[in-house]
Amino acid sequence: MSALSELYKEIALCQQCEIAKSRTKVVPGEGAKDTDILFIGEAPGWHEDQQGRPFVGPAGLYLDELLASINLKREQVYIANVIKCRPLGNRDPLPVEIQNCRNWLKRQIEIIQPKMIVTLGRYSMAMFFPGKSISKIHGTTQKRDNVIYYAMYHPAAALHQQSLRRTIEEDMLKIPSLLAQAKGIPETKEQPKQLNMFEI
Ligand code: URA
Repeated sequence: MSALSELYKEIALCQQCEIAKSRTKVVPGEGAKDTDILFIGEAPGWHEDQQGRPFVGPAGLYLDELLASINLKREQVYIANVIKCRPLGNRDPLPVEIQNCRNWLKRQIEIIQPKMIVTLGRYSMAMFFPGKSISKIHGTTQKRDNVIYYAMYHPAAALHQQSLRRTIEEDMLKIPSLLAQAKGIPETKEQPKQLNMFEI
């Protein structure tokens, strides 16, 4: 059994938080284990809790569109969340829940060893860019220990706030060249596809 599958079994047994009792399914994360790029969202919502898969509701469909704009499918990347159980009523994660779940994410990162970590929204940003504001640092990187950390708005924020759409889409389009830098290979000149806003 792979290290990630072993880890999923451990996560599924976790009962550290109250929200473990109310979950339908735990949502550990999914994707390619040998990928260079890891996306980290906030917490499962209703759809994710039902299916046990990250980003499968409206924000996930939009994330799929954003990935397609840089010629990536979700199966080619890894998608995880800061916390693995759904907070009831879609409330924000509590500090204690983030703390309890921190080790799961740490172990996912150790197994996957991504070259680039993309934080989606404030909660995952806070783990890697403490004290920063998303409106100031979205679309910017930090490099530590040969990993590029890149902050983006959460796709759900862009769905609710039309003015953020262009920003998140532009930030997504910067990823291929950043990833190429992270991998130390020259960039290709292929143009990324434009998003079709009417299909979202
Ligand atoms: N929002 C998140 O942050 N994560 C999900 O998995 C779904 C929506």
